[in-house]
Amino acid sequence: MPANLMKAFDSSNKKLIFLYISSFNINQIFCLLILLFLFLETFNFSTYMEGVVGPRIYSCCKCRNRVALHDDIVSKNFQARTGRAYLFTHAMNIVIGAKEDRQLMTGLHTVADVKCSDCGEVLGWKYVRAYDETQKYKEGKFVLENFKIVKEN
Ligand SMILES: [Zn+2]
Repeated sequence: MPANLMKAFDSSNKKLIFLYISSFNINQIFCLLILLFLFLETFNFSTYMEGVVGPRIYSCCKCRNRVALHDDIVSKNFQARTGRAYLFTHAMNIVIGAKEDRQLMTGLHTVADVKCSDCGEVLGWKYVRAYDETQKYKEGKFVLENFKIVKEN
């Protein structure tokens, strides 16, 4: 630490610290901003917010039964026949229907319907098996259709 900064801390004189910072050139200020940004990234602001507002939850559109957590979303860019859908690693309060093979846009998959355990509404499906190697990551995951779930805070 430079001697003049030490002195600033020692005397805890705010004016000296201000004078030290105001003597920075534009490059030093830029470096400081990058360091500040990296610090905030590490701190992970969104995780902090999660603790404040509680976990964000998705519920069944019909009966508001809680079916999935926002944190379990793997992808928001899934395409279902009826429109957009989210891919989740987990789902809760659901009933999984019979397995069947379905030819989807990304190839042949074994899937099972996912229904709300309270009202029985079909919310999406579970990937039980993907035959294509590139699609294996979906196995065991859940697709819930966007218009069938409601986001709660
Ligand atoms: Zn329901």
